[in-house]
Amino acid sequence: MLLLDAFVGFDVSSNRPILHVDLDSFFVGVERILDPRLKGRPVAVGGAPESRGVVSSASYEARACGVRSGMAMAKALRLCPNLIRKPGQREMYARASRAVRRVLDRFSPVVEPLSVDEAWLDLRGTGILFGCAVDTAERIRREVLRSLGLDLTVGVARNRLVSKVASAFAKPKGLFEVYPGREADFLAPLPVRALPGIGPATENRLRKLGLFRLGELAAAEVGLLRKHLGRSGPLLNARALGEDNSSVRGGEEVNIRRSIGHEETFAVDIHDPLLLKAHLRRLLDRASRRLRAEELLAKKVSVKLRWSNFHTVTRDSTLTRHTDNDLELAESAMSSFEKMATDRPMVRLVGIRLSSLIRGFRQDSFFEDGIGRSRRLVSAIDVVRGRHGFDAVKAGEAAWLPIS
Ligand SMILES: [Mg+2]
Repeated sequence: MLLLDAFVGFDVSSNRPILHVDLDSFFVGVERILDPRLKGRPVAVGGAPESRGVVSSASYEARACGVRSGMAMAKALRLCPNLIRKPGQREMYARASRAVRRVLDRFSPVVEPLSVDEAWLDLRGTGILFGCAVDTAERIRREVLRSLGLDLTVGVARNRLVSKVASAFAKPKGLFEVYPGREADFLAPLPVRALPGIGPATENRLRKLGLFRLGELAAAEVGLLRKHLGRSGPLLNARALGEDNSSVRGGEEVNIRRSIGHEETFAVDIHDPLLLKAHLRRLLDRASRRLRAEELLAKKVSVKLRWSNFHTVTRDSTLTRHTDNDLELAESAMSSFEKMATDRPMVRLVGIRLSSLIRGFRQDSFFEDGIGRSRRLVSAIDVVRGRHGFDAVKAGEAAWLPIS
């Protein structure tokens, strides 16, 4: 009974406790780690007002003067004249997000990221390790704050929908549990916009029907909803009651692409192996950059060569572990190439394909400690290319290639 007791209020067989973890003004949180002087001050991350920038994240001090994400930065600065604007650093946010993900992975094998700062965890079967869902939620909150310095809020419920509404309800630095069977009661007093999937357009249509709160939507005549909202009417009604049977899709269950590849056909056939290697390296850089952008790791690298007579050969090599590191992938590709191109015939096409993909990140710790030099280099290159285009940086042998 010890195991069952651990799931306070949850029937282990049919209801699984689900957590929705949402970092509090995440981009601002990362900016405050990088510059602690921003703590306690109104901060917004987003584009410059003169280039019609928009707020993408606002601190709670800024929200207190009415600043919201999605708002024009010019308006935000009018509402909050002492607002500190930060332009945003995607690479840093992605890195922080990965660090948070590694913490979450310690608490459940089934973690489904929803965005850079939100994820669901299915806690089925973890009770014996971490106690009840609320205890686990509190441990996650403490651990992310302690090890990364970021605040977050957790919603606990028996399905994804209600856990997400619960975390939004409890923000910031909050923890809120909706007991099984009390979903409809919890949702009833909330405005219809609190339900994920109801935007301003649907809100307007519901308003015309006299439906302002989720309790009213839940009690509405399904026929009437169908008449005015079509097929989504009955669905919204069920959701307003807190019904959601979707499951948290973690790890291998998430559909990921099978491979990432690039090919290049030359205007004039090439036989110089150095030049061919340079082209291959360039294709590999593109492919591995996409790999990192999609937060995937590859284990297999294939090199394809098509000779001038259209005869095509492919050679695969399998690495000892999954990686997203350019240098490791390139080493493997180049050794395949060496084995293929001994007789140096004329080549009309080269290609690179990365496969055996899994979702994940290279193990590295947040910010400075322990990050390998090559990983830092690769991240820096991605950042420069993100800002100035792919050809802003070229690796090694590819550096002298003409810009195409
Ligand atoms: Mg958030």
